[in-house]
Amino acid sequence: MKFLEFWNREAHRFKGIVFDIDGTLVCGPRQLPGAAELLGSVRAAGIPLCFLTNDGDHTMEQKCSFLCRAGLPARPEEFISCLAALDTAAEENDWRGRTFFAIGSLGTIRCLQLERDPGCIDHCAGVIMGEGRYDWRGSWEAAVNFFRRHPERPFIVPNPDLCWPDPVSGGICIGAGGQARCIEHLLREFGIELRIFYLGKPYPAIYRHAFRELERRFGIHPEPSELLMLGDSLASDIRGANRSGMVSALVLTGITSQEQALAARGDFRPQYVFDSIN
Ligand SMILES: [Mg+2]
Repeated sequence: MKFLEFWNREAHRFKGIVFDIDGTLVCGPRQLPGAAELLGSVRAAGIPLCFLTNDGDHTMEQKCSFLCRAGLPARPEEFISCLAALDTAAEENDWRGRTFFAIGSLGTIRCLQLERDPGCIDHCAGVIMGEGRYDWRGSWEAAVNFFRRHPERPFIVPNPDLCWPDPVSGGICIGAGGQARCIEHLLREFGIELRIFYLGKPYPAIYRHAFRELERRFGIHPEPSELLMLGDSLASDIRGANRSGMVSALVLTGITSQEQALAARGDFRPQYVFDSIN
């Protein structure tokens, strides 16, 4: 079945819709069939929407221009990244204004102070794991030794993704979540269990932030079950939607095959499966 057929029939059940981007609305630089029609129909009906991304390395303006270039008009304030979720998480955990030792690239962060000098790490409230390419050895060793001395302090990992596909080589690149798990595993060998706070999909922080943003921007107070999440990843989009109580809808235009969708169990099982948007 096509998602648009479902949406045209069932949109009245929902107070908002949350979209994944890659594999759902676009494939690389081009829009997927029906994406423009769907976004147009959601906007014309005045239904609140937002786009969730685990990419914390690009600004919302950059993510927005990426979608606009693919022919899908959007506004920067409609994008919610794992890094934006840090705002809500900082408030909930009393991190606001405190200094964290930063590993890798972290875009723009306003709610925390960042420390880059390993010599000053002991003054930090915790460590935050960024993305991008960087010389890992110095910062990883500083972080590992920091957590050996202060195992109770938090390790914030905005992007929980283990890896992402490298479009050039066809292989995979190790994501921030994969790097954090290396540090976690290493410390476990020393008998230390880290307090890790993952913020992006499928973890709750990004969803709590999305609900807050929908309330703030549109003045709506929906139950999670009145929101629909459309995405292409069982582990990220569907698991996150199910865990947060949203209605989960999978499209098979990205990284999930029909067989994988049928075999999915528990939190990974989508409530609806669609071949494509249109
Ligand atoms: Mg995706």
